[in-house]
Amino acid sequence: MYVKTICPYCGVGCSFFLQVDDGKVTKVVENKNDPISEGHPCIKGLSSWETIYAEDRYKTPMIRKKGKLVETTWDEAYNYIYENMKDLKPDEVMFYGSSPSTNEDNYLLQKMAREIFKTDNVDSCARLCHAATCYAFDKIFGISAMPAKIEDWKAADCILIIGSNPESNYPVAFTQKILAAKKNGAKIIVVSVWKEQTAEQADLYIEIEGGTETVFFSAILKHLVDNQDAKVPKDIEETISKIKMPDVVNQCKITKQEFDKAVAMIAASKRFVLGFGMGITQHVCGVDNIFAACNLVLAKKGKIISMRGKANIQGVGDMGCQPEKGGKTMTTAMFLEPVKAFYIMESNPAQSMPNLNKVHDELKKKFVVIHTTYPNLTAEKFADVVLPCCTWAERSGTFTNAESRIRFVNKAIEPMYNTKPNYVILTELALKFGKKFPNKIDDILKEIAQKRPGYEILDLDKLKSEKGQFVNREPKFQKYHLLLCKGEDVKPTKKYPFLLTTARIPFQFCTGEMSSRSATLNKMAPEALCLIDPVDAKKYGIKDMQMIRIISEVGEIEIKASLTDKTAPGLLIAPYHYEKTLINKLVPLNFNSQVEEPNLKKIPVRIEAI
Ligand code: SF4
Repeated sequence: MYVKTICPYCGVGCSFFLQVDDGKVTKVVENKNDPISEGHPCIKGLSSWETIYAEDRYKTPMIRKKGKLVETTWDEAYNYIYENMKDLKPDEVMFYGSSPSTNEDNYLLQKMAREIFKTDNVDSCARLCHAATCYAFDKIFGISAMPAKIEDWKAADCILIIGSNPESNYPVAFTQKILAAKKNGAKIIVVSVWKEQTAEQADLYIEIEGGTETVFFSAILKHLVDNQDAKVPKDIEETISKIKMPDVVNQCKITKQEFDKAVAMIAASKRFVLGFGMGITQHVCGVDNIFAACNLVLAKKGKIISMRGKANIQGVGDMGCQPEKGGKTMTTAMFLEPVKAFYIMESNPAQSMPNLNKVHDELKKKFVVIHTTYPNLTAEKFADVVLPCCTWAERSGTFTNAESRIRFVNKAIEPMYNTKPNYVILTELALKFGKKFPNKIDDILKEIAQKRPGYEILDLDKLKSEKGQFVNREPKFQKYHLLLCKGEDVKPTKKYPFLLTTARIPFQFCTGEMSSRSATLNKMAPEALCLIDPVDAKKYGIKDMQMIRIISEVGEIEIKASLTDKTAPGLLIAPYHYEKTLINKLVPLNFNSQVEEPNLKKIPVRIEAI
């Protein structure tokens, strides 16, 4: 039997089949009719079925007693949550949704927060990756989602990829759409802080100082306007006219020749597409970066594509897992105005947030409930109650991918062990609090269609089609935004002479719970490696694959060094996927004031050989 589903990993949202033999998923089979993957899912998608059978999955609910998680029944777990949360005031609790969870799960999570706890303290992992994007798009286009489609890459004649490595992190968009455009003659410009995999395919690669992208975009725009290759409103023209090229070269650490080539390529383009990722959002100036990128795209009448990370990353926000009426963000609830309880669904803040030593201190003091399939740091060390949700293959629902395409995730097998789908857990718990929630997917979808803007179109048959349904993302308006033209003011110091950038690698995913349980992926990337320039390494007596210590003002970690000339001198690149190497312990709390998205990209550190 073949069951059509959607990949549980990234925001590209490929469709494929799960082959089920005798009630067991035995492999992933390509879907040749899928308009996104065109029958070519990446290695993560192809190996995703392996994670269903991870032996260490949570098999039954757990409650922490005398410091240890012990098995319990669902009813006891619900009662324990009820007793510990029933008297909390609205301001004392934080709900944290997530993008591996379906729309139906996230909808009910925020419903529980708002209708039972009367709180607007609802957020999701989107806070950490593209909060800046949603905010800036809302100001510029009047919609908090990207006003383009993944297919738009294909029609481009010039593609600027900045702060993203789609060859690694958006693989199918890269192979099926970006490379298809290149084959048709499109020019590819890659701008990055290091020469990652995507840069290898570029017609022009520019290494830039991270956090100066606002300056870079604005300078390009100024040159287009000066050369009469683009027109912008008078106020924007006046602002960008003050940009001086020597300042751009100094600040962005680029050469004038590279810059001129980029300007010429973009000037010649009739169908310009700018794609970006967390490399430009996870900065204190993240919102400014997106404003400046949008100004350039508007002037070129081009398209802008935000390469948003996880399977249901657009859906989680669309369902209302974000503060809508002045509630706390996760950043505020964790660091600034601490709450007493966290209710977390399929997220791992003990690994994903910045300043982890502080996060761990805070989590120790709270009542923590988590829904999770696999053991993770938040569950193992800090949760008071672990509610074992089943994998995506054992539940139905919908995902909204990065381009706002909603498609159905079909259950392939029954929930294993004593696990349940998130929406079932939420409806059962809501009953303990005296509230009846819809408890069937069809009924939840009907309520979503009534309550969530843009989702009134929902139609089960269409959701199950290859195309799915698109939330309307036509821009309501197109407003240029006046630029501040400032970069980020984080510099190496005498005490911390390196800058560290957190990054992703092709064979693990986010905090690694799922990908580390795929034998295929684990074989390819079993441990964290920190990329370091060979000249820097020599100076510190560091050999390839030697352990090093990295120290910042808020923490230290040990990690293996990998010597490569792909990173710039003075710059370290390390992944955040590994629980054994908690790279975010090094990240001080330094965030964007508009949306509280943390700087995870420019961290002053020093290193020692071990
Ligand atoms: Fe899954 Fe993303 Fe790979 Fe597609 S590109 S198969 S959605 S991980």
